[in-house]
Amino acid sequence: MFEFSSIEQYHAQLLEGNVTCLQAVEHYLQQIHATKHLNAFIEVYADEAIAKAKQADEDRKAGRPMQKLHGVVVGLKDVICYKNHKVSASSAILKNFVSVYSATAVEKLLAAGAIIIGNLNCDEFAMGSSNENSAYGKVLNALDETRVPGGSSGGSAVAVQAGLCMVSLGSDTGGSVRQPADFCGIIGLKPTYGRISRYGLIAYASSFDQIGIFSATVADAALTLEVIAGADDFDSTVSPKEVPPYTKELSANKKFRYAYFDEALDHPGLDVEIGAAIKNKIAELKKEGHTVSAVKFELLDYIVPAYYVLTTAEASSNLSRFDGVKYGHRTTAPGVELTDFYKQSRSAGFGKEVKRRIMLGTFVLSAGYYDAYFTRAQKVRQLLNDKIQLIFKDFDFILLPTSPVTAFKAGEKMDDPIAMYLADIYTVMANLVGIPAISVPLFKHSNGMPFGLQVMANRFDEVSLLQASGQLVAH
Ligand code: GLN
Repeated sequence: MFEFSSIEQYHAQLLEGNVTCLQAVEHYLQQIHATKHLNAFIEVYADEAIAKAKQADEDRKAGRPMQKLHGVVVGLKDVICYKNHKVSASSAILKNFVSVYSATAVEKLLAAGAIIIGNLNCDEFAMGSSNENSAYGKVLNALDETRVPGGSSGGSAVAVQAGLCMVSLGSDTGGSVRQPADFCGIIGLKPTYGRISRYGLIAYASSFDQIGIFSATVADAALTLEVIAGADDFDSTVSPKEVPPYTKELSANKKFRYAYFDEALDHPGLDVEIGAAIKNKIAELKKEGHTVSAVKFELLDYIVPAYYVLTTAEASSNLSRFDGVKYGHRTTAPGVELTDFYKQSRSAGFGKEVKRRIMLGTFVLSAGYYDAYFTRAQKVRQLLNDKIQLIFKDFDFILLPTSPVTAFKAGEKMDDPIAMYLADIYTVMANLVGIPAISVPLFKHSNGMPFGLQVMANRFDEVSLLQASGQLVAH
């Protein structure tokens, strides 16, 4: 039987002839079939994946050099375009829409030899923290099916957690890669804003959105990042900075400087076991010779409100294109006039949470309230940025929990959107400031669920972030 532990090992086995890409793909197709009820995949590209695997096996046997992601089986969140494949942001408004081009990240995956096996369920337009806001229904956490997998990239997290592919891509606007990784016990990496092209990523909040990576190991995340990062003529917000060879730099045995916030670890909303585990980890890191110090952080209570004002404002603008005219769901009522046509198409096509956010975003941008909400939230973003930059003068990393709670029960927070939003308290900061962050699966709660440690680094310092993550998992 095929067993996956890391891309490096898989490649070694391929070279030794112990396994083939076809066996790997067939294994995943079987697993996907056996776990259909988890609802992680929206569509599975079985025939295509089999054909690609056969081709990869032939190429290898013909002595062609193996590319970086040769035969690596990848899943894509349903917000990432793959030419001639459906993409819908898990929304009824985009049902049956077929991508006319591929995202740059997808082009790069394919060029590196990856095999894309299907697209993955998520919260509608990546809005949510539990993967319960999807037109395709909720996704279940494979470790406890009564619990949510986190969101919005819940399908991507479960696909790696349940062994349904080797690596998956998600998107992270306020934690949507790190939080589901935390809930599912895997690695979730959100790179620096501008590290990976957003071309072909369906926009939620464009100044926050970033494609992120789910994997079983730090090295797999590093390798995938190495492949998909870098300049792109189609996205002017992507940095032209050279992409470092992350995988080669992984094993540095360095002593780092970590900052943490008492305000975060003593927060009344934080599960006591999570707080205690992280405090223990801090003590361990000190013992190992790292510098770990508390830094005063007064802004914690402002960042969730600032995030939800700014992201809903951007979303209300980004989602205005889904009007039933150009593409997507459209009303079929005869003889409706234009305004009613828009209203009816959008009312039927968008789900509850998306509508809530469009309305909130439109409100905070409206003439009378713009300064009171949008401008003030922008100021908070700037203050936060200044504060974080000061911290990075003295430290390499900021340590935080990923989420204040472990995976909660399905349905538990659906009637209380504020409670759902507040649970994003530890993740949204990285997106407000554009810094890279990772959730490293280190702990297990007495309720049986896993949880991670979140590490944030300065902009474009993914090298140190991955090195530290490697050390954390090894110890
Ligand atoms: N939970 C956050 C939200 O609902 C994060 C979403 C995301 O990162 N896409 O906005």
